[in-house]
Amino acid sequence: MSRPPVALASLGGTITMTGNGSGGVRPSLTAADLVSAVPGLAEAADLAVTTLATAPGASLGAADMRRCLAWAGDAVRAGAAGAVVVQGTDTIEETAYFLDLHWDREEPLVVTGAMRNPTAPGPDGPANLYAAVTTAADPASRGLGALVVLNDTVHAACRVRKIHTSAVQAFASPGFGALGHLFEGGVHYGNPVPRHPALPLPPEDRPRPRVAMVETCFDDDGALLAHATAEYDGVVLAGFGVGHVPAALAETVSAARVPVVLASRTGAGSTACRTYGFPGSERDLIARGAIPAGFLDARKSRILLGSLLALGVPRERLRAEFAARGAGAPGSTVGCESG
Ligand code: ASP
Repeated sequence: MSRPPVALASLGGTITMTGNGSGGVRPSLTAADLVSAVPGLAEAADLAVTTLATAPGASLGAADMRRCLAWAGDAVRAGAAGAVVVQGTDTIEETAYFLDLHWDREEPLVVTGAMRNPTAPGPDGPANLYAAVTTAADPASRGLGALVVLNDTVHAACRVRKIHTSAVQAFASPGFGALGHLFEGGVHYGNPVPRHPALPLPPEDRPRPRVAMVETCFDDDGALLAHATAEYDGVVLAGFGVGHVPAALAETVSAARVPVVLASRTGAGSTACRTYGFPGSERDLIARGAIPAGFLDARKSRILLGSLLALGVPRERLRAEFAARGAGAPGSTVGCESG
């Protein structure tokens, strides 16, 4: 039987990290090293592998994601059924959403990594690689955008969060759940995912706008929010609950000269539109110009705002983009527009 062609690129992360014991592990393995350690992988797909970087997830940036998009685009244009990006799990929830926003192909773009390094007992890297390649090769994964696959579970890039520092089951999609599961060598989907039109990539020579993410907290004096609105090109404000801040911060939102997106710091659920009416409530902040993020969490909101600002999307369009992309279901909107 012919094996589906799948492209695989490594950026580094724990899955590639080894060490001599005393100094801690560091990224060192190449993509070729990784795939050679996975039993049965060569039978599952016809792999073309490349090493794009050897870095921890914490040091990846927008330029790395642009390289990934270019590499994956070339790979599928050359006939790959799908592409797999291997990287550190620390930033997967953000990088995968970046890739998802700008991935304009039907072929799946799957991101994976590992929680245990290859020198630890029971490393999860080989199983995750196998699951990621299986997912990328499966026609059922077409049209789903960027996917995150770890621990035999498939997550939508717009939903997934890292919810544990060290567990093998460190990833979850709070609120709506995972898209599917790997079982007996195949991928099984049970949940639809909102897909939105891909955003074009802004010109490479244009600096990516600086978007600050500010989480409010008990007894917040507002100094950080004031600094962020004065110094950055946009701000994502992770509010309490459905989108609340202490009353004293509300004026900073009205006075902001840059867009302020209102998300929740809770990690699941949507910002509200019309429930609370006190100063600093979601109604108050939206009336002062804040853009509700809906179901998008603060980290993903920051990626989206950065991409929209990079494309020069005017301020009045930002609210509509967040209403659509922050919605729970395809075709619906967050609902703040409807009165
Ligand atoms: N703990 C991280 C990982 O799982 C380290 C990193 O993101 O590079 O890969």
